[in-house]
Amino acid sequence: MPRRITTLATLALSAVLGLGAAHAQDTASQEARKRAANTAAFPDAARALFSQQTTPANLQARAIGNYARGCLAGAVAMQVDGPSWQVMRRNRNRNWGHPDLIQYLETLAQAVPRINGWPGILIGDISQPRGGPMITGHASHQIGLDADIWLTPMPRQRVDAQQRENMPATNMARSDWMDVNPNAWTHGHTQLIRAAAADPRVERILVNPAIKVALCRESGADRRWLHKVRPIWGHNYHFHVRMACPAGMASCRPQEPPNFGDGCGEELTGWLARQHKAMFAPKKPRLGPPRKVKPKPPMSLDALPPECRQVLVAR
Ligand SMILES: [Zn+2]
Repeated sequence: MPRRITTLATLALSAVLGLGAAHAQDTASQEARKRAANTAAFPDAARALFSQQTTPANLQARAIGNYARGCLAGAVAMQVDGPSWQVMRRNRNRNWGHPDLIQYLETLAQAVPRINGWPGILIGDISQPRGGPMITGHASHQIGLDADIWLTPMPRQRVDAQQRENMPATNMARSDWMDVNPNAWTHGHTQLIRAAAADPRVERILVNPAIKVALCRESGADRRWLHKVRPIWGHNYHFHVRMACPAGMASCRPQEPPNFGDGCGEELTGWLARQHKAMFAPKKPRLGPPRKVKPKPPMSLDALPPECRQVLVAR
């Protein structure tokens, strides 16, 4: 956790939901602090071993395992600067992915000025050079098929090296977290997410329930893409694109495809209610001494598919 948390809302969401909801926008120093603490606590954990790898495994490109328990062979890097994109938080070295995902992201980014008139997009975390679990943030992003795209448009003036590490992202949720903040959200956001979902290789897009409310309202008659957009905690600073396992790739463990239907009814109402309760309902006072909760040890290398050991040691 960052030492100082600026808003009560972030504190409540991170504490209750425990998913590092603010991780996307952690600054370089916050990130470094978490990284050091996590490495020291469990130096042999899979996340420590994979996060030390600075280059990809020179093997045929393969997503191995599932999104939250796996690794990546033959990764390629997304260029850190493109005509209409910039990779943020470069110091994390997480701009690596399966070649299909990188090609998809560069194609999407190039189309952005035509899609919604933005100068471009800011790219957040993709995967580590060899995938695998990470020392900070994210349960998934392990097999090179997940990518975060900021909901803050790329500024017309390029983001400089220092800002890339420290520039905050914009929270899109309204203060009650039941809808988007009209001062931050634009129809361009809906146009971008719809375009991101249009590629048949994209299986899911994860957004905060408050954002799904806006997408449901603004999507008009074309609702075929909405079933791919799934509500999830956090994801109020960025949206998360998940590609399906590439066709014929036996090493990649697919996820159940999302249900059909736009997901704008009861399911969404339920998410909004649970999120609101987690953030705003008064906590029941606990009697007695504080309970000691022993943290669960992080994933060991044995928890990953055996091929991930080869990925780790490959040249
Ligand atoms: Zn993500």
